[in-house]
Amino acid sequence: MPRPSYWETTTFFRSPDVLIIGAGLTGLQAALEIKRFDAAKDVLVLERAPIPRGASTRNAGFACFGGPTELLADLQAYDEAAVVQTVRERYAGIRALEERFAHREIDWCKNGGYEVVDDPGKAAVVRRQLPHLNALLQPVTGLAQTWREVGRTDISAQQWWPSAKPPALLLYNPLEAQLHPGKLVNVLLEDARSAGVRFLFGCEVEKLTENEDGTVAVAGAGWGSLTAGRVLVTVNAFARQLLPADFAAQIRPVRNQVLLSRPLPDLALRGCFHYHEGYVYFRNVGQDRLLIGGARHVAGATSETDAFGPNGVPEAFLLEKLREWFPERGWTTADFPTRWSGIIAQGDGKTPILRFASGNVLVAGRLAGMGVALSADLGQRAARTLLA
Ligand SMILES: Cc1cc2nc3c(=O)[nH]c(=O)nc-3n(C[C@H](O)[C@H](O)[C@H](O)COP(=O)(O)OP(=O)(O)OC[C@H]3O[C@@H](n4cnc5c(N)ncnc54)[C@H](O)[C@@H]3O)c2cc1C
Repeated sequence: MPRPSYWETTTFFRSPDVLIIGAGLTGLQAALEIKRFDAAKDVLVLERAPIPRGASTRNAGFACFGGPTELLADLQAYDEAAVVQTVRERYAGIRALEERFAHREIDWCKNGGYEVVDDPGKAAVVRRQLPHLNALLQPVTGLAQTWREVGRTDISAQQWWPSAKPPALLLYNPLEAQLHPGKLVNVLLEDARSAGVRFLFGCEVEKLTENEDGTVAVAGAGWGSLTAGRVLVTVNAFARQLLPADFAAQIRPVRNQVLLSRPLPDLALRGCFHYHEGYVYFRNVGQDRLLIGGARHVAGATSETDAFGPNGVPEAFLLEKLREWFPERGWTTADFPTRWSGIIAQGDGKTPILRFASGNVLVAGRLAGMGVALSADLGQRAARTLLA
């Protein structure tokens, strides 16, 4: 790499007031919030890839707050008040997304959310626990029945379950929506650029050092270095290489596989479908495509990585589930010509991390599988914490 010229260091590599590492949903919304708070602040976003290439552009596009089997499992594992608070934050995020972006080009569609339970024993347990869950959710959503059972009488309606073979239990909520994650990120990029946020793509940050004067030196082998007044790290699942060991221990990367069907002219399915504590998710994309993803629970240690790549085990499991649920279609691998992977940041607990790694380096991340809903709030809180 050549030495930087004076012209470069006084423009592209100029020291910003705030440097954000990672141009995903969290980093972009934090950048916008800083500009809203103080338009004069010079904000620079460094992104390692040519486009934002974290979970934000590779997810399933659910604006969701979690299906009953996931929430009931959370209630077993965590404090009840904490679980309700997390749903409150997710639901607030969905409403914020709707208010700010539903009218923009993000393919926002409020088809509602479903939970599929195909094991009769599990279905009986969920049915029994549903009134308690709905009572907990009522103050959050304002609905007496956030989740209600559908089927039985109306199962023949193709809208609910487009198959002759209904699952043991199908639950519905009218509040969840779906969107095009790539378009959402693109809209945020446009807004951030309009607000004066600067971007450098293809700049992987490899080292962060706090200088004695309080500024932070940020460096990467492929592009050089610069200093910033304050740094916000929003690299989510890719924290290991960059952050102190205690962060790496709290943020575990987990790879998910996503399959997208060829156009299926008679696809009636509409909505965001959750299955088995959120490990599997599927939805319609537009009028005639089916997206299905997840199944990391069957992949074991092979999914514990921050490297993109295929994985035949969850991919086969997802296809097998479709064959069980919608046998009429006779699914084959050829029905899913488009496949990709994405990396989720997991940890103990379901709340994102927001804390300083050092005096002027703040970390905001670990949004697990709900970052579409949670990132607006996390980005805002990160911006305010940084500027306080
Ligand atoms: C397959 C899949 C499906 C999902 N489905 C949903 C869903 O339907 N609904 C939902 O709410 N959530 C879903 N999620 C989770 C959601 O996508 C994430 O929680 C959210 O996108 C996290 O946003 P982020 O900005 O914090 O992180 P990311 O989007 O991961 O952004 C981090 C950015 O940092 C960049 N970066 C990393 N390291 C460096 C470095 N050293 N230097 C510079 N840049 C760096 C990356 O390239 C990336 O652009 C899903 C995730 C996956 C993987």
